[in-house]
Parts: sequence; structure tokens; C-alpha cells
Amino acid sequence: MKTFPLKIGTPDGLLFDGEAERIICRAITGDLAILAGHVNFCTALGMGKAEVVLPDGQRRTAACIGGMLSVMDGTCRVLATTWEWQDDIDIDRAREAKSRAEEILAKGGLTDQEYAAAEAKLRRSLVRIGVSGR
Ligand code: ATP
Repeated sequence: MKTFPLKIGTPDGLLFDGEAERIICRAITGDLAILAGHVNFCTALGMGKAEVVLPDGQRRTAACIGGMLSVMDGTCRVLATTWEWQDDIDIDRAREAKSRAEEILAKGGLTDQEYAAAEAKLRRSLVRIGVSGR
């Protein structure tokens, strides 16, 4: 299958720079897959599981928490707010974040802003736990 250049980074640095056969990730409008030959395109990313299929067919899975994805002249660039490869996810940390968020939400009496922050933290932890598969 044809491949295309893919760059994945966060504000902390570049995490992937190479050829890929496919990238699948959660955009704000739903899941999307980018293959070689995609038209120029730009979208905001949501929170969810992402998958990169390498030229040898190997699949690398990650937790992607927001950001932007663009395709320009055949090159796909992902600038994620946070991106953790499956093996890099600290499951204990994700479980602790989940418990903390649940405690805050259960306590109640939150402002809209506090509620949104706790809910977003809970959603991030659930994505990480789901992707880690542990
Ligand atoms: P926590 O309360 O554990 O910090 P959080 O959801 O608030 O969770 P973020 O603000 O989304 O954390 O991320 C801060 C940084 O920590 C990012 O660089 C992110 O990649 C990293 N990170 C967060 N949680 C984990 C995790 N469970 N495993 C590995 N890296 C993580």
C-alpha cells in the first residue's frame, strides 16, 4: 500500500517523523482515517484512541487529547495537546486522575468552570485507561 510522510508532535517535541500507511484518530466531528493521496485538509482533534499503521503493517496505538491535524501537499502533521504511546501510559497515574476527578464531581457545588475542568480530567483519564488496555 502507498505511504505518506507523517509528523506527530506535542508542544514538548516531535514524537514521530516517518512514513505511515494510515493514521486513524478522533476528530471533533468523529473518527477519521488519513491515507496517502488525501486532499489538503485541516481539523481540530477530540480526545480518543489514535492508531498509526506503519509501512510494514505494524500498528502503534496512542492516547490523543486534542490538538490539530492537517494534510498539506501529501504530508500529514498532528500537533496534539498531549499524545502518549500505549507503552508510555502510566496506568496508576491515570487511575489516580480518574479517582480525583470522580471525587470532585461527586462532591458537587462546583462552578460551571470547575465542573467542566473535572469532567475533562475524567475524560482524559478514561481515554488513557482505555488505550493502555490494562
Ligand atoms: P494528571 O492529573 O495525572 O496530571 P491530567 O489529565 O490532568 O492528569 P494532562 O494535563 O492531560 O494530565 O497532561 C500533562 C502531561 O502529563 C502531558 O505531557 C501528558 O502527556 C502527561 N500525562 C498525563 N497523564 C499521563 C499518564 N497517565 N501517563 C503518561 N503521561 C501522562
